[in-house]
Amino acid sequence: MSGSIGIYIHIPFCKNKCPYCDFFSGKAAENDYDNYVRVLKEKIQYWSNKSPQKVSTVYFGGGTPSVLGADRLTDILNCIKNFFTVEPEAEITVEVNPETGKTLDFEKLRTAGFNRVSVGFQTAIERELKALGRIHTADDALVTTQRAKAAGIDNLSLDLMMGIPHQTVDSLKESIDFCKSCGVKHISCYLLKIEEGTRFFDIQGQLDLADDDKQAELYLSAVDYLGKLGYKQYEISNFAVPGYESRHNSAYWKCGEYIGIGPSAHSLLDGSRFFYGRDMKAFEDNIIIPDGNGGDIDEFIMLSLRLKSGLVFSELEKKYRPLSPAQMKKIMTFAKAGLMEVDSSHACFTPKGFLVSNAVIAEIIL
Ligand code: SF4
Repeated sequence: MSGSIGIYIHIPFCKNKCPYCDFFSGKAAENDYDNYVRVLKEKIQYWSNKSPQKVSTVYFGGGTPSVLGADRLTDILNCIKNFFTVEPEAEITVEVNPETGKTLDFEKLRTAGFNRVSVGFQTAIERELKALGRIHTADDALVTTQRAKAAGIDNLSLDLMMGIPHQTVDSLKESIDFCKSCGVKHISCYLLKIEEGTRFFDIQGQLDLADDDKQAELYLSAVDYLGKLGYKQYEISNFAVPGYESRHNSAYWKCGEYIGIGPSAHSLLDGSRFFYGRDMKAFEDNIIIPDGNGGDIDEFIMLSLRLKSGLVFSELEKKYRPLSPAQMKKIMTFAKAGLMEVDSSHACFTPKGFLVSNAVIAEIIL
């Protein structure tokens, strides 16, 4: 084992279940929160014995970590700091829902070491928030970002959604303008996916959903507009003022190692992938499900191509081997079709290429 790792902490609680969401999360009571924090701390200790490495990033995701409140979040982070060597410059992120962010004690979080806040915002348009079943307003997100900044946390991210029922290119731009007016340094912009097992899956016929062409129009206009406002695309769905890219997520895309703690959390450690199932009891019992080897050449190609910096040929050769002539030929064909850009040092997707990246990557690694 060498180098430093990331730690992901999954908080499987939300105030309300959004009808489109298939993350492992749900409503719970205060005593469930306390019990969960106790179990998490046991597991943090367990993993520190397995992996006594330095930690360069910590990410509290969910669910809605902010429902736990600053005291519990601080307690968990302190436990990580007690059992791992968290680097002084580590990026430590907490996801916050705008509704809970209005009252969250950001001062306490900053003092504990949290230095990045990611806010689940989705849209500034009230009608679209309603369509998504969100329980907050756009102003709640503004208040949340202002409060975080006032507490000294200026590394802020907002999540935006594309393809929301009723959304138009203009309303999406309005939401992006709103993010800019909040002064955030990072914006994640995801297309709504209808997942089996969600309420939206059951009622999709009744929803005014964007078809493929509309989704493409929304995505391409968002990439273009975000770029004009100074948010540089660095991954399919992520945009940042240069220097504010998410270090935690960037490590995932570079095949960096990480431990995920919590039900449904995935890990890559010592070249192996494994995860906890979507089951609280199984997590308590520490039942870990193996998921094969991680970090092979195909995975490296696939993850690198998610990034705007793309597949750097010298990195690929150093870690594995050069691309085969057949693979290079396919890349040149995709470049001619306007889906990729390629030069002597790297290959990457164009915005249009990102829209079909899964199919293209499958072709390249065949
Ligand atoms: S708040 Fe986030 S994690 Fe919770 S249900 Fe809604 S989308 Fe899912």
